[in-house]
Amino acid sequence: MSSGNYYEETAARLEKALQYCDDTKAVVVGDKTLDAVGDFFKKLFDVGKAVVVADKTTFEIAGKRVADALAAAGIEVETPYVYDVPHMHAEMSLVDMLKPRLAQTDAIPVAVGSGTVNDLCKYTSSLVNRPYMVCGTAASMDGYTSFGASIEYNECKQTFSCPAPRGVLVDMDVVCAAPLKMNAAGFADLIAKIPAGADWIIADLLGTEPIDHVAWRLVQDSLRDWVADPEGIARGDRKALAFLTEGLIMSGLAMQKAKTSRTASGAEHQFSHLWDNQRHTYNGEAPSHGFKVGVGTVATSALYERILGTWTEATFDAAIANADVNFRSWETIEKELEDHFGTTGLYETVKRECRKKYVEPDELKRRLALFRDAWPELKKKLADQLMPAAEIQSVIHKATAPSTPEEIGITRERLQYSYRLAQQLRYRYNVLDWTHDLGQWSAMVDALFLPGGFWAK
Ligand SMILES: [Zn+2]
Repeated sequence: MSSGNYYEETAARLEKALQYCDDTKAVVVGDKTLDAVGDFFKKLFDVGKAVVVADKTTFEIAGKRVADALAAAGIEVETPYVYDVPHMHAEMSLVDMLKPRLAQTDAIPVAVGSGTVNDLCKYTSSLVNRPYMVCGTAASMDGYTSFGASIEYNECKQTFSCPAPRGVLVDMDVVCAAPLKMNAAGFADLIAKIPAGADWIIADLLGTEPIDHVAWRLVQDSLRDWVADPEGIARGDRKALAFLTEGLIMSGLAMQKAKTSRTASGAEHQFSHLWDNQRHTYNGEAPSHGFKVGVGTVATSALYERILGTWTEATFDAAIANADVNFRSWETIEKELEDHFGTTGLYETVKRECRKKYVEPDELKRRLALFRDAWPELKKKLADQLMPAAEIQSVIHKATAPSTPEEIGITRERLQYSYRLAQQLRYRYNVLDWTHDLGQWSAMVDALFLPGGFWAK
């Protein structure tokens, strides 16, 4: 990337990505863009009526200005809906609060906020069959442009299917003034696409989830550039934050293109989902999505590093030879899931997901042979994709996001057990399944915690 006008570079890349998206029609990232929200709105919607949806903080920092700018452009602006809820997070009761307000009008919701407000507005708008747009206030996660909203329901964080916003407008003055820890969280969520890409490479080889090459390129082509300046994130540097914002928005657009979150999430996200579902808190609050994903990113990068430094074709041959002996029946797995997750809450979900990825010994042997035959090439591909674990840890740390489990209140012992539980959480094939399928769990994962291992104290 040149150091010229980075907003033009960003706009050109986003414009190109938009042609692949069904829901999102326009994205603007720049300075003082909030002042032009009226024109942006008019281009996107036929209805000349808007309602701003925000929380108390985001209304103060941007929502009020958005409402004023819309009104100044001749758009009818209804009384804003402002959540006044302490320690607010996206949960169904807050959807239930917003829904009647949106149902009694035909105004277009204009979300002003980041993850929580956007998810609530995205899902509630879909419930009343209405398109919406969002003015992003922090580069804190990649959900602005993704379809689906992550909302807690029945004490479980779940993704509810709903369209992405029709438009996203980000004023970099607002993002630069956002709390550092929010942008640091977004940085961790973005750099996670490095090991997530490696996971997609192995799933692609298996054929369970083939790579969508257009979506792959939207995320991976510029990823190293987007995360090249972690100190810039820590300093609040405008260019570093603009690239971060672009990367996060692009990740969502890639999900729209591929119609799967595979483009943006692998095993590292399963650590985060696990801790979400365990309702993990540290110092009285749940660590942000990006903070959990960042620790998961170091965790899976460390595992990959050990694998690439250890495995040879002979490892796969040995696994094939032992496949019948090591085979675990579905009943054994079911019993283990019960031990791990109990019979309530997550149990039914993990049982369903694990059943989907359960294979008989013959299929397992076929898969192991696929990996073995591709090994020299696959090993090189993964090495090119990944970053050394210590390096990715240092980069995340420089951006001021947590890079050790203790920083989010997770002990090493719990992290070690979390690798195990994260593997069972979801069907999506990744490095944890791979390690498991080779019968290499203790040699790879447990060894990370022994003297000389990456997580040794
Ligand atoms: Zn994420």
